[in-house]
Amino acid sequence: ETVRPLNFIERIIEEDLNSGKVTAIRTRFPPEPNGYLHLGHAKSIWLNFGLAQRYGGKCNLRMDDTNPAKEEEEYVDSIQHDVQWLGYQWDGEVHYASDYFDQLHAWAVYLIEQGKAFVCDLNAEQMREYRGTLTEPGKESPFRTRSVEDNLALFEKMRVGEFEEGACCLRAKIDMASANINLRDPVLYRIKKASHHQTGDKWCIYPSYDYAHGQSDAIEGITHSICTLEFESHRPLYDWCIQNLPVPAEPHQYEFSRLNVNYTVTSKRKLKQLVDENHVAGWDDPRMPTIAGMRRRGYTPKALRDFCEMAGVTKVEGVVDISMLEHAIRNDLNDNSPRAMCVLHPLKVILTNYPEGQTETITAPVHPQREDMGTRALPFGREIFIDQDDFREEANKQYKRLVKGKRVRLRNAYVIEADEAVKDAAGNIIAVHARVIEDTLGKDPADGVKAKGVIHWVAAHDNLDCEVRLYDRLFTDVAPDAGGKNYLDYLNPNSLVILSGCKAEKSLATAGLEDRFQFEREGYFTLDNKHTNADSAVFNRIIGLKDTWEK
Ligand code: ATP
Ligand code: MG
Ligand code: MG
Repeated sequence: ETVRPLNFIERIIEEDLNSGKVTAIRTRFPPEPNGYLHLGHAKSIWLNFGLAQRYGGKCNLRMDDTNPAKEEEEYVDSIQHDVQWLGYQWDGEVHYASDYFDQLHAWAVYLIEQGKAFVCDLNAEQMREYRGTLTEPGKESPFRTRSVEDNLALFEKMRVGEFEEGACCLRAKIDMASANINLRDPVLYRIKKASHHQTGDKWCIYPSYDYAHGQSDAIEGITHSICTLEFESHRPLYDWCIQNLPVPAEPHQYEFSRLNVNYTVTSKRKLKQLVDENHVAGWDDPRMPTIAGMRRRGYTPKALRDFCEMAGVTKVEGVVDISMLEHAIRNDLNDNSPRAMCVLHPLKVILTNYPEGQTETITAPVHPQREDMGTRALPFGREIFIDQDDFREEANKQYKRLVKGKRVRLRNAYVIEADEAVKDAAGNIIAVHARVIEDTLGKDPADGVKAKGVIHWVAAHDNLDCEVRLYDRLFTDVAPDAGGKNYLDYLNPNSLVILSGCKAEKSLATAGLEDRFQFEREGYFTLDNKHTNADSAVFNRIIGLKDTWEK
């Protein structure tokens, strides 16, 4: 592990542990199950679970399911899968904010009894008007002076469903003149006549995020409740609830700046729109910045964790360059992935001096720097495929591939020399005639005429026919959803290119769905777990070998 300065949250935790303010830390990751998790959530998962690991504490997984309308079981399942795939395990059972609905309701009754909450009949528009603005104080609701008895009776009527949605709500009685708008008698409970995926039709009143969150933290014994900066101005309300309720613990909220990455969007709502409107093929489309999409694309959990670490934890809003993520992925894959050869645009080369019907097997290392990874067998014969881009009839000195009358080395195999291009009636090159230079396996040609470059190849008589999917950034704009822009206007029309009839070396026929390879000179690839089956192999390009994006 690299040594780096502690981030500000780590410093707070170390102080709290050293001073004895807490004896062990407990954090939580609290997603709302209304979509699949994305890169931004990966950051929050890495932070909350990582801190618990680092300081010998625990981290809870809590479904923040206070809003009945939008939540689905599918999302609850995908969230658990994603957290575990990233390499983390929550403490005990999965928690649900909805588990605390009885307690939250009882505490709301308690606030009413203390004269600290009231039922308000203002409608949404009036409420907005009464709330005031940043520069103007709010006005007190005319319902603020209701008696405790009236409020208890009205709140009970809300609970049993006697009012329509929007007819009234429960508000905390704090301070309509507060400079902090969140303290101007915020809503604690609203009426919503919707079934909930956990509690069914038991409730028709649901707690607000601000009321539910801190109390859920207290119930679970969370010590450090970490959220993003937009909740900084909600912290006084978080604290007000904790101070005014007989909660079993005193959690504290800390805010850090959210992860923003250029060339992408990290908002469930926007990602859901891409899915719902079929701009992509589902939440796990390999172009999506969802954890499911990145997993299917072939990104590694380690690369995502390393990226979160590199991006750091601060209170300064900023945008991280996506090339930092790509760098983390290449780093991990370069060190650990087996090498293989795959020809994406096959061009047949006939080696005219290689005896017809003869074949051989060449042994090649799995990884050039890692003997421990062993060797692989490469079939070789009279006919091979090279990439169409790797042959020219004429070319300048910069072109270090196969040129008519010149030599090139076949990766892991012989040096060959091209004699002529075979063309169809329209003049397209359909094959190349070439010769093997004798005794050049692992040796330079005896005549001293060296090969200029090295190209990859695959035997024509024994290979794996496959489909290859090349991905590019989903958006062409550096900030597709910045101020006033519609991210749908910046979808990259070339974000997916499908190549069929590609030829991969035979050893890939036994590749597993989780395996990742470097296809030499082409990038890093993995089998697509949706489209691959017994009859067809489909490879996703995880990422190219180097950054080719034009800035
Ligand atoms: P979205 O706007 O995409 O729906 P959200 O914050 O509403 O995001 P939640 O499910 O409520 O989604 O998020 C769960 C946790 O993940 C929260 O603690 C939230 O702060 C954190 N989180 C979400 N997005 C980011 C991000 N971009 N960077 C860091 N943390 C994030
Ligand atoms: Mg949220
Ligand atoms: Mg959200």
